[in-house]
Amino acid sequence: MSCANVMKRDRTAVINPLVTCQPMGAMYAVAGIRRGLPLVHGSQGCSTFVRYSFSRHFREPSEIAVTSLHEDAAVFGGRKNLISGIGNLAVRFKPSVIGAISTCSSEIIGDDMEGFIKIAKEELKQKIGEEKAEKIKIVPISTPSFVETHFKGYDNGINALVNNLAQDPEDSNEKVNIIPGIVNPGDIREIKHIMGLMGIDGIILTDISDPFDSPLRPSTTETRPFYPKGGTTLEEIEDSSNSLGTIALCGYAGSGALSLEKKYEVPAAVGPIPIGVKNTDNFLRNLKKFTDTEIPDSVLDERGLLIDSMADLASRYLFGRKVAIFGDPAISAGIARFVCELGMIPSVVCTGVENPEFVSEMKKVAKESDEPVDVMIGSDLRALEVKLEEEPVEMMIGHSDGRLFAKHLDIPLVRVGYPVYDRAGYHRVPIVGYNGSVNLIDRITNTVFDKYYADEHWKLQQ
Ligand code: SF4
Repeated sequence: MSCANVMKRDRTAVINPLVTCQPMGAMYAVAGIRRGLPLVHGSQGCSTFVRYSFSRHFREPSEIAVTSLHEDAAVFGGRKNLISGIGNLAVRFKPSVIGAISTCSSEIIGDDMEGFIKIAKEELKQKIGEEKAEKIKIVPISTPSFVETHFKGYDNGINALVNNLAQDPEDSNEKVNIIPGIVNPGDIREIKHIMGLMGIDGIILTDISDPFDSPLRPSTTETRPFYPKGGTTLEEIEDSSNSLGTIALCGYAGSGALSLEKKYEVPAAVGPIPIGVKNTDNFLRNLKKFTDTEIPDSVLDERGLLIDSMADLASRYLFGRKVAIFGDPAISAGIARFVCELGMIPSVVCTGVENPEFVSEMKKVAKESDEPVDVMIGSDLRALEVKLEEEPVEMMIGHSDGRLFAKHLDIPLVRVGYPVYDRAGYHRVPIVGYNGSVNLIDRITNTVFDKYYADEHWKLQQ
């Protein structure tokens, strides 16, 4: 049993950031809706860099619209841009949901987005008829970028969707809502796989697995607009108030679950993300609690395969190795706990947020570690680099943004999470659930093997 040393960044400037601004998280949330369109109420760049980042990571295009605010909007407001933007999207794309996402500029000039949306809806009725206009739901999502991070933007996005779209409850739908957090398509598919083995139907709020990893159709008879297959339907979001419970996999993504609990008495369970044995057991316990379903042998077999992998690899190759983990607060905390289960030491865990869920999760993890854990909050990659220069570790686990200083410090980097753009296909490979944890242990052990079987290593042995 050990302790967590919580430390904040000791300078004002951010160098090599671990987080981006709120709208990105909301765009991710809306992209998981079938025929859902994020409409960013801000300048071109607010959407361009996110589109670029999504396509670098997922290798898929994403439809993200922007109201393109310029200098005149800073003086006169963005009313005209938002109303005409909604009208254009409705006519050309026929979406089911438009998520109207604010930015720092629209928040600072004080645009009344809810009021503008009301006017846009009235104009839309004139333009395309009342019946068609009623079918298009427009949800205002407040994501002021001068506070918090893209994780909060995701949370705000999901919360706005359930608050605006979930209908008054009727009969139970016998389903469980899952709020996945900013995870990969492979992770969401693994969660659906586990629920499928247990015979539980789920509503994923929201499901980016197909929209961000969809088949290229050899020929299509569909004319534009073309949406990717999959995603959560509007009807499913409306129905989320009838579910047996809501599980938010990531600690930072619980507001939607808590809103459904408060408004519609749908019980909520928030985190921890099911990475490793204990956290996945906890996820299954929550599923069992909400649905009263026994854990089938097929799931127990998958658990057994993970335990077998740990027995085969952990004590021989991984035990006692020090690692630094960075990136998404929920994923980093989940991996930190898993590496403790493997007998490794999470010497440093670093994230760009300061949220209390992360700190309390890391305090629990530190109790399971044999050595103290340095927990860096509100931090950046430069701070992590300086720390690792002074106190080296044997391995880093995090996303691609750490690749340059990992090379500089000669520390191998195990790539996980978002964004991973210097490797192909990682978004398809899960790291959650028992199967995902087996993938993770393989990835970690292979990184150890890379060094162990390197020519230089064997030369040193001779
Ligand atoms: S910080 Fe503001 S201006 Fe920059 S991308 Fe984010 S919302 Fe847009």
